[in-house]
Order: sequence, then C-alpha cells, then structure tokens
Amino acid sequence: MSVKGYLMQLQPFSVNDGDGIRTTIFLPGCPLHCKWCANPEGAQQTPLVGFYHRLCIGCGACVKACPKGIGIDLNQEREKCISCGACVKACPKGARKQLVAYADADQIIAEAEKHRIFYQSSGGGITFSGGEATSQLELLDYLSKHLYDRGYSLAIETCGFFDFDAVLPVLKRMDLIFMDLKHMDSEVHQHFTGVPNEKILENIKRLGETGAEIVIRIPVIEGVNATEDNIRKSAMFVKEHLPKAKMELLPYHKFGFGKYEALGLPLPSEEFETPSKERMKKFYEILSDVGVEKIEYR
Ligand code: SF4
Ligand code: SF4
Repeated sequence: MSVKGYLMQLQPFSVNDGDGIRTTIFLPGCPLHCKWCANPEGAQQTPLVGFYHRLCIGCGACVKACPKGIGIDLNQEREKCISCGACVKACPKGARKQLVAYADADQIIAEAEKHRIFYQSSGGGITFSGGEATSQLELLDYLSKHLYDRGYSLAIETCGFFDFDAVLPVLKRMDLIFMDLKHMDSEVHQHFTGVPNEKILENIKRLGETGAEIVIRIPVIEGVNATEDNIRKSAMFVKEHLPKAKMELLPYHKFGFGKYEALGLPLPSEEFETPSKERMKKFYEILSDVGVEKIEYR
C-alpha cells in the first residue's frame, strides 16, 4: 500500500545533483536550522503556499477563491491559511505557489517515471533532497525501494544528521550519496545550524558501509565556515575516515531569498557572503594539498 508524506517539489531536468539528467525529489522537514538556508519552506513538514508579490497584478482572483477570506497579501494573514491551494489554481500570474503539499508516494513515483527516457539516455536518475529527505523515513523508504526495484539510479543529498542504522537500508539503495559537512568546530556548528556536529561526523565515518560513491559537500559561506583552517580540517577528516570520498565546495548563494519573501520571513543575515573565485580556488588547492579528490556538479 502506498504511503503519504510532504513534498516540496519534484524538479525534472536537474543536472547539479548527480550524473546525467535527473529528477530531484525535495522532501521537507529538517533537524537543522541553518541560518543561511536556501530552502526555508523545507524546514517543517506542513503544507505551505507562498505569495510572490512581484508577480501580482492585484486582480483579486485569489481573494474570491479563498475559503478563509484572506486578502491579496497572504503574509498579512498567514495564520488563517489552511494551504488548500485554491488561490494557487485561481491566480493567473503564478503569484501564489504551493511550496509544500501533502502527496501520495505512488503519484510521486509516476511523476518521476515520466522522464525515464532522459535518465536512460544520459546516465542520469533520481536524487532525493530537501529539506532533509531522511526526516520522512517511511516515505523515503517507500520511494527508494520502489524506484530501486524498477532499476533507477538513485542519489541522495543529506545534512547527515540522522540515525545511521535506521537509514542504512535506504542508503544501500543509493549509487551516490552527498553528505554535508558544515563546520568542524561543534560549538560553531551548533551556533549556525542549531545542532552540534558529532552525530554528522560519526555518520560520515560510517558511509563506507553503504557501498555507494560518496561526495562530502561543504556549503562555503564567508562569515560562517570559509576559512583555510576549517576547509583543511574538513578535508583531513574526510581523508582519514573516507579515503575514497570526493569533496565538493558549494559557494553560498542568495537564490532562496525570493522564498523568504514569499513566506513573509526575514532574510538571512547580510553578514553571510559568497566567497570570491580566488578564495574558492584557494580552498580547492587545500583539498589537493590534503590529497582529497575534488568534484564539481554545480
Ligand atoms: S491556500 Fe487556501 S486558505 Fe490559503 S490563502 Fe490560498 S485559498 Fe486561502
Ligand atoms: S490572483 Fe494572483 S495576481 Fe491576482 S491578486 Fe491574487 S496573487 Fe495577485
């Protein structure tokens, strides 16, 4: 029997989350609360509708459709919204978007399978992302089992903060695992993400048990973790515990800011900055110094 859960987005034609052309399935709910997060809608497991005021022409179709009598500026009355999606269907400009919906696993699979031809022709597949995909373990287990049984190449992007033994059966279905390593100092990690890093470090050490190809990713953020010392310590940790793993450095970006506005949330701190190309080059040189192979999907 199919299971249900929360879905942020099913993004076809993705080329940044593994080999070939892929569909990325974003599942919300995350045990971390990174202060720079690019996907604020993925923090919790709850249906959410966003309001993109720059697209709005003020026609009022959303107001007519709303069973709760909410006005055009949804963020002024968000507490009344039941995320029914009526305004999303009514809006002629795409100014209301369903950012998180309650979804059926078999329907998610059917949607992902529509692009099978592209996976086959490009060596691609399906990537689970978030939010944090492991936070909906029953849904993730169902999706990964059925897609694995149908022969798809699977990958997962994870923050690494989960019960390893519980998630291991899912991880063993993956060809490729991306796991984040945000900071080597546990206190700093806790300050910026809300959790210490020990569990993540222990899980990284165990990734060899999965048999998958491993990529450890660092989101590189000036003002958080973009120091030569942190990058070197991270690379040395990976080299020591997962000598075959590759590393990817992802420069901080602000593409998620529109979603903060759409949800009426304050933007991440202006103190967070994108590292320069020269800094990123230097950080990649550090990986080489330590003897870790780099990879760049983005
Ligand atoms: S999602 Fe439903 S309740 Fe919320 S604003 Fe739109 S129509 Fe109203
Ligand atoms: S239906 Fe869309 S375009 Fe019209 S007022 Fe509502 S949000 Fe704006």
